[in-house]
Amino acid sequence: MHRLEPPHRYLMGPGPSPVEGSVLAAQAKPIVGHLDPYFLKVMDDVSAGLRTVFQTANQMTFPASGTGSAGMEMAVHNLVEPGDVFVVGVNGVFGGRMAEVAKRAGAEVIAVDAPWGEAVSTDRLAETARRHHAKVVGVVHAETSTGVRQPIEELRPALGPEPLLLVDAVTSLGGIEIQVDEWGIDACYSGTQKCLSVPPGLAPVTFSDRAVHAVARRSEPVRSWYLDLNLLAAYWKDGSAARAYHHTAPISAIYGLHEGLRLVLAEGLESRWRRHSDTGRFLQDGLERLGFEMVAPAEHRLPQLTAARFPDGVDDAKARASLLHDHQIEIGGGLGPFAGSVWRVGMMGAGAKREHAIRLLQAIPAVIR
Ligand code: PLP
Repeated sequence: MHRLEPPHRYLMGPGPSPVEGSVLAAQAKPIVGHLDPYFLKVMDDVSAGLRTVFQTANQMTFPASGTGSAGMEMAVHNLVEPGDVFVVGVNGVFGGRMAEVAKRAGAEVIAVDAPWGEAVSTDRLAETARRHHAKVVGVVHAETSTGVRQPIEELRPALGPEPLLLVDAVTSLGGIEIQVDEWGIDACYSGTQKCLSVPPGLAPVTFSDRAVHAVARRSEPVRSWYLDLNLLAAYWKDGSAARAYHHTAPISAIYGLHEGLRLVLAEGLESRWRRHSDTGRFLQDGLERLGFEMVAPAEHRLPQLTAARFPDGVDDAKARASLLHDHQIEIGGGLGPFAGSVWRVGMMGAGAKREHAIRLLQAIPAVIR
């Protein structure tokens, strides 16, 4: 084996996003034990930082071990018991994945579909939840396969107080506004490698008190031992004297998240949302000038993840390979029905910079020629 020498890429795909040097440096700091008082303080700081980015007072807020998909599995498997009705909005890959996870958890899954590129109708979600007495309604805030923003803020007033509201914020947290408490969200999960600009490996999660109570009152244990909130609660409770081994916390990854959150909070959430919005719009205008067509309508279009149809006659694989090898720029191809016609460009976290957009916009004419 030889020493690693990864290339320096401009990460402009759907994730991972670029990581600041101080975050990488934090991950190289000395390892302490995961029950060392020093580390317990790091955990408390990380939970507090996550409460701010999620805009919540939820006690049960922490980084689950695993990527965003672990957050999805944790949220779904804890909230759902076999036979529970789970209504899920499906307008792309990740809504479909949530439906599949809920099915595997034994839920009776009712999908409310929308065409790829559109938001799911709030009214249809609410009407379906009411008609079927849903226990949980699940939606994806930022659908990474289509660049569509789901208007989560409309949901709680439409749903009424009853169903638990579960939100996938993998591609939204730290990039666009999310208000867990104000919007009445009961469970929300994210990933570190998108707008938080931290390497992949952790899934920030938050659960409302009523979600925590619902999990505590389950009639059967959560089917996943690793992701069981009831078992993890004591470990992640702030300042808890009852902290005891459940699994070995990924120390270095949590150091990295600590530094990443420090950078987010130093920038300020609103400034960060504005930076994502400005740079996203700048990129989208430039792509349109080059003949690309936006997938999502302006009112539901994400700034941090742009899905755009490329002009006719472009050799998709060849053009993206040239971007990568000749220009060091990674972007994403289309998924599902968008494969071969759409590119996905991420301007997330430390990558949400005009210079990056300009670099890509200058490279595109050469690679699509
Ligand atoms: N949900 C959404 C919206 C995503 O974009 C992704 C990943 O891109 C996931 C869930 C899964 O996250 P991960 O790939 O970190 O497991």
